[in-house]
Order: sequence, then structure tokens, then C-alpha cells
Amino acid sequence: MTTRLLSGEKTGDDADTTLRPQRLADFTGQAQARANLEVFIKAARTRGEALDHVLFVGPPGLGKTTLAQIMAREMGVGFRSTSGPVIAKAGDLAAILTNLEERDVLFIDEIHRLSPAVEEILYPAMEDYELDLVIGEGPAARSVKISLPKFTLVGATTRSGLLTTPLRDRFGIPVRLGFYTVEELELIVTRGARVLGIPIVPEGATEIARRARGTPRIAGRLLRRVRDFALVAEAQAIDRKVADRALLALEVDGAGLDAMDRRYLTVIAEFYAGGPVGVDTLAAALSEPRDAIEEIVEPFLVQKGFIQRTPRGRVLTGLAFAHLGLPEPKREPS
Ligand code: ADP
Repeated sequence: MTTRLLSGEKTGDDADTTLRPQRLADFTGQAQARANLEVFIKAARTRGEALDHVLFVGPPGLGKTTLAQIMAREMGVGFRSTSGPVIAKAGDLAAILTNLEERDVLFIDEIHRLSPAVEEILYPAMEDYELDLVIGEGPAARSVKISLPKFTLVGATTRSGLLTTPLRDRFGIPVRLGFYTVEELELIVTRGARVLGIPIVPEGATEIARRARGTPRIAGRLLRRVRDFALVAEAQAIDRKVADRALLALEVDGAGLDAMDRRYLTVIAEFYAGGPVGVDTLAAALSEPRDAIEEIVEPFLVQKGFIQRTPRGRVLTGLAFAHLGLPEPKREPS
């Protein structure tokens, strides 16, 4: 998929770590998730036990990695991080697991992308803190059990439906993360500007927050880009005008949609008369992978009320036609 300024995906250019909140108290938004985690962390600390395994579910850039790190810090334990596609063989995971210390947090990003062989290793590790390994091949093969320290697995995925049922069932604490409100993003932008030493007025922060696709990672990225524009324009601080001009130049429109979002909506409007159209057809028309469309482009457009996912396919709403400035076609009632 083409790199988008507005995609919540990591691109490596934003030095994410400077903006990462370090404690649960500094973490803005996701009130429900935060309150629940606080209880579980306190309980586990009081009992001196490892926290139950946690699964974070939500679109990229909403704070899954950040929360996993915060959990380890609040528990006062070590943090190890890896990701599904990186663990190629069962032995790779075995090596990671046997190196953990008691109560450590092991974070596996994109956990739905583990291979079946690796997943098999994970089941007894999560359930009984045991590794079942087969050593050797053929008639000489034998299986050995190695006991593991009691650790906490924190998995992250974009949609829980991508996980196999046995894996999903082994997480005691599922936590769903949703898009942030503009007010929450304002706080995040303001705090980010302070951390980065960027002068910004409240209206400037609001403008960036409104257009960050409900996603803190995007808010951080926009803040840096807008700062560049402000510097070149010799503005004293980021105000609404500077932010607006910069965001337009970056092709982020007033609703926070980027060029990819608009291309997606326009294709449905103009090629398919507003839908319904299947996601595979759309993926082909846009030359983008289906996964990226379903997990990155669509969730925000659904939340904004621009599209509906129906059993027959995607349908544009009146709101989307109005946003594109196109007349809404008359549709047969279905
Ligand atoms: P994910 O793992 O869900 O893709 P990350 O945890 O990597 O997302 O967060 C992406 C970026 O957004 C990081 O720079 C992080 O500091 C910032 N971020 C995420 N959530 C928050 C939040 N609640 N408050 C402030 N910054 C946040």
C-alpha cells in the first residue's frame, strides 16, 4: 500500500518514542480500557502474580504498544517486544520464551500473523507456562517439556476476528481500543507540542486534532509536518491558519480525510453508483490490498458515517456524497 501521511501504520519517520506517555496516568483517552487495566494491574501487584494475558484490539496507531509498555512499567517488570511476522519458526518463539523472567510482559504485535506451527507452541506456554518441544526426527524423536516463568503475554491485532478461536480464547483480558475524540486528541497534540518544544495556540491544536483521523499516531505526525510549514512561513506559533494551510498542502481535508480516503469514496460514488460493492472489487479498483482497505481505510470512514458495511458490500451514505460535493443517486429501496 502506498505510504500515507494519514495511515496509522508505523513508518519509522516519526520517532514515536518521544511522544509516548510513560505512565497510565499520562495516557489520554480510552477511559474504559484504562480503568479496567488499572484494576487488573493493582490486583496482580497485590497478589504478587503475573497479570493475566491481555489482547489489545483496534486500528493501528491507537496506543496498543504504548499501553503494553505502560503495563510493564506499572507492574515493575521487564518488557520484551516482537511481532507475528518476525517469528518465523517455533524455535524462535521458544528462544524468546525461555529468556523471559518471572512476570515479564511479552508483547507480540500483529499476533494474528503468527504461523500455525508457532501458535501451537504458544498454547501450552500461555495456559500452563510450559513448552512442549519435539527434539529429533523420525523414530528417535521425543518430546520434552520445559517449564517457563509465569509471564504475561500482551497481543495486539487490528481485528479480533483475524485470530484463531483457540488463540483468542486464551486471553483472559480482551481490551478494545476505539478512535479518539477531538478533545482527547487536542490534549495529546498540546502535550506533544510541549514535549517537542513547539509553540502552538489552542485553535492550532484543535485544527490538527480535528483532522487526525481519531488516531494519536497521526496527530503526532501532523504536528511535526505542520511545524515544518510554520517554520518556513516564519510563524510565531502554530495557529489555526498555519495548521489549515499546512494540512491542505498535505491533502488532508476539513473532515480529516486524506487522498486515499477520498479516492476510495470517489470510486464507490462514480464507478459503482454509491454501491453496494464488494471489498474485493474495491481492492482491485484501487490497486490496494484488501487487508489495508478493511483495517486501515474503512474503520474510520465507517465511524464518520461515510460508508456502511452491508452483507452485499460497501454503500456510500448521503453524508459521503455531500462531502464529495456529488449528487446522491436515486437508489432502489433494498
Ligand atoms: P499501536 O501499537 O496501536 O499501533 P502505538 O502505541 O505505537 O500504537 O502509538 C502510536 C503513537 O501514538 C505513539 O507515538 C504514541 O506515543 C502515541 N499515542 C498513542 N496513544 C496515545 C495516547 N493515549 N496519548 C498520547 N499519545 C499516544
